[in-house]
Amino acid sequence: MVIGGDMHMAGLWSRRAMERLAHDELPPSPDNYAVYYHCAAGDMPALTAAFDDISAKGRITQEQCTELYNKYFAFDAEAAFLKDANGIIDKELKRVMEMLGATVEGTSRFGEKLDSFTGSLSGADGLDTLRQAVEKIAEETHLVAAHNRKLQGELETTTAQLSEMRDDFNRVHRESQIDPLTEVGNRKFFDREIAHAIAEAHDKDGLLSLLMVDIDHFKNFNDSHGHLIGDQVLRLVARTLVENLKGRDIIARYGGEEFVILLPQTRVQDAERVANQLRAGLATKQIKRRGSNEVLGVITISIGAAEYVMDEAVESLIARADTALYKAKQTGRNKVVCAE
Ligand code: GH3
Ligand code: MG
Ligand code: MG
Repeated sequence: MVIGGDMHMAGLWSRRAMERLAHDELPPSPDNYAVYYHCAAGDMPALTAAFDDISAKGRITQEQCTELYNKYFAFDAEAAFLKDANGIIDKELKRVMEMLGATVEGTSRFGEKLDSFTGSLSGADGLDTLRQAVEKIAEETHLVAAHNRKLQGELETTTAQLSEMRDDFNRVHRESQIDPLTEVGNRKFFDREIAHAIAEAHDKDGLLSLLMVDIDHFKNFNDSHGHLIGDQVLRLVARTLVENLKGRDIIARYGGEEFVILLPQTRVQDAERVANQLRAGLATKQIKRRGSNEVLGVITISIGAAEYVMDEAVESLIARADTALYKAKQTGRNKVVCAE
């Protein structure tokens, strides 16, 4: 028989977390979900205490929730949690589906058997009592089956909710790492990717180069043509960079009009070549005003390139690429400079 309470506790905590988030009118973003999930699970007593303190005074606001997240979850804890949560949800879905399959199928087969047994007995007068008994069992079984069907309905709802939750969850997670204007990765995405890339280069004696790209005189461009056209240029630059990169390369918008590109398995000499291709790719594109097609000019970029040196910190690699970029700016722009 299906027993509701047999569901894995994690499923219950997920549901509680989602309900409580809805109650507090907060979106189920990975960060918010992390806070609410662990409060529901009660496995982080300090977090739960802080949470209870705030919630005693009323609904938890987004700001308060973010503060809790920042205080109680380290950066990498989020990635680990997301991975765990996805695993838990997957397992839960499988369990529910298995339970559904086994129980409903089993019970209705049992009912059918008893039904036919009753039919074959109905002619035998002397066995009347027995027939009645069997009829009763069949009735009971139908009740069980009906009950199971109701349970099945409930479980299906739960399953659908869990699926939906996982999808929401993955979507929010993806969105939280994408820059909405240019649709390349954002700073948060880059911070994570560079940490991974460096760890990999470090562990496997691998090569890694970093490009730091900055649009030349972009302030002038904005001032002359307006922010909307400036935004259009940012999208064009991002698209051009993406078009000219290979699959394993990683691009992100680092800040206003700066992009960063990670080139795994690449020496700085090759990174320099790639950087010059990116520059050349952009030089072929004319910026036109939408509608009138008036030509507004060509956009150029300056690029600083640096190759990862064994054992150096993330900040050091970024700083060296940044210094190289600064040199490119100082010595005329629209060029590539490599860090020593
Ligand atoms: P340089 O060649 O030295 O890089 O000069 P610059 O004018 O590009 O550099 P600066 O850092 O002085 O100015 C960057 C400008 O980029 C400031 C701002 O007008 C523009 N900018 C930054 N972010 C955005 C954005 O999201 N949209 C638009 N339209 N412009 C932006
Ligand atoms: Mg800049
Ligand atoms: Mg600039």
